[in-house]
Amino acid sequence: MASDCLFCRIVAGEIPADIVHQTATTLAFRDINPKAPVHVLVIPRAHHGDLTAIGAADPALAGEVLAAAAEVAKAEGLTGGGYRVILNSGPHSGQEVFHVHAHVLGGAPLGPMVSR
Ligand code: 5GP
Ligand code: ZN
Repeated sequence: MASDCLFCRIVAGEIPADIVHQTATTLAFRDINPKAPVHVLVIPRAHHGDLTAIGAADPALAGEVLAAAAEVAKAEGLTGGGYRVILNSGPHSGQEVFHVHAHVLGGAPLGPMVSR
């Protein structure tokens, strides 16, 4: 655990979160500032800074994060209407929390994939 990492502190139970799904290796909780009717963040329990890092260090765990995102989408009733999974990675993406996380967004039409 990185003690200065917000999401590691959520994993450790030091900061409260509205947890909606968990596995031995992942945790999913509602985003504090939702951008859609459903906005859940899925993280690995282990600290990896971004997709580049987890993809190199533990690609199987990256797959478990994606599988958990699909489970969350199902549990939140998003599979019929569809949903979007976003993994911001690095400065141009606007990533703000440097513990890799998948955003699961849905519950209404989400608009264009990127703004221009
Ligand atoms: P990023 O921009 O790094 O891809 O996304 C970070 C996300 O974390 C943002 O959508 C933001 O609203 C969310 N977030 C930031 N701090 C907290 C927090 O303390 N709790 C929860 N549940 N979400 C947070
Ligand atoms: Zn962390």
